[in-house]
Amino acid sequence: MADIIDGKAFAASLRAAIASEVAGLPYKPGLAVVLVGEDPASKVYVANKAKQTVEAGMASFEHKLPADTTRENLLTLVRQLNADLKVHGILVQLPLPKHLNADEVIAAISPEKDVDGLTVVNAGRLVSGLPGLVPCTPLGCILLLEDRLPDMTGLNAVVIGRSNLVGKPIAQLLLQKNCTVTMAHSRTRNLPGLCRTADILVAAVGRPEMVKGDWVKPGATVIDVGINRVPAEGGKTRLVGDVAYTEAAQLAGAITPVPGGVGPMTIACLLRNTLTAAKRLETAK
Ligand code: NDP
Repeated sequence: MADIIDGKAFAASLRAAIASEVAGLPYKPGLAVVLVGEDPASKVYVANKAKQTVEAGMASFEHKLPADTTRENLLTLVRQLNADLKVHGILVQLPLPKHLNADEVIAAISPEKDVDGLTVVNAGRLVSGLPGLVPCTPLGCILLLEDRLPDMTGLNAVVIGRSNLVGKPIAQLLLQKNCTVTMAHSRTRNLPGLCRTADILVAAVGRPEMVKGDWVKPGATVIDVGINRVPAEGGKTRLVGDVAYTEAAQLAGAITPVPGGVGPMTIACLLRNTLTAAKRLETAK
């Protein structure tokens, strides 16, 4: 039976370490979160982010704009936040309403305050091995992996999914750890066979329990990024990952559960990125 990688506990200790570092700073790191519209899931995420930001001793600036906000209004707000010395991190909650172009809005964020790591500048820094800000979920995955596997040199890593938000940055981080990385996607041939070569298997697909138990190499470390809501008994729903957990846990050496694995790491890494950005910006003053 696999060891369970407890992301909830890991994230709690990471947040505690961040809070203690923040307490010793002569300034207060500040995170601005911009929410456009009334998407219920986004509202919950933003409220959680604000709560955990304040708990870490940082300043939280919430900007809620109506769903029909114009492009100009949103870009003006982002530029104001770029210039605001109390704000060290800026996050625009996605998805945006359809009339707004997320790429354009992200591009307007100062790369030094881009705590989601989504600007082209930060993506380029990651590929080039330069210090930047790394997307939060991939950062959370690599921290969990580092804890489990302090030396990943030469390990075969298979990443299923190639999104800019998750798959591509995770692959880059694994490459930096000297893994031999294969990126798989919807056109990959013989995915089960490929997965069976993986010492580290990362699933970031968005398909409930797609990765079956017999896709897992015995002893492999399995990181399940997927968050999928599926029907459950009594007309309710439950969360499952992209990996068929019970089957996979029979063969894996270690595995992240869903929920309680990668998920809690995302906000903890957002706080870490905010602290990183604050330290760099304050040093550069
Ligand atoms: P995207 O939809 O942007 O990307 C999904 C990727 O999976 C694509 O690259 C796609 O390939 C690939 N894919 C789709 N179907 C298959 C298939 N049958 N076989 C192989 N590959 C396939 O999703 P995200 O990267 O944004 O998110 C992935 C998952 O992670 C989702 O479940 C999401 O909810 C979750 N997530 C969790 C977070 C957390 O905090 N834990 C944060 C962000 C995301 P192709 O490119 O060829 O289309």
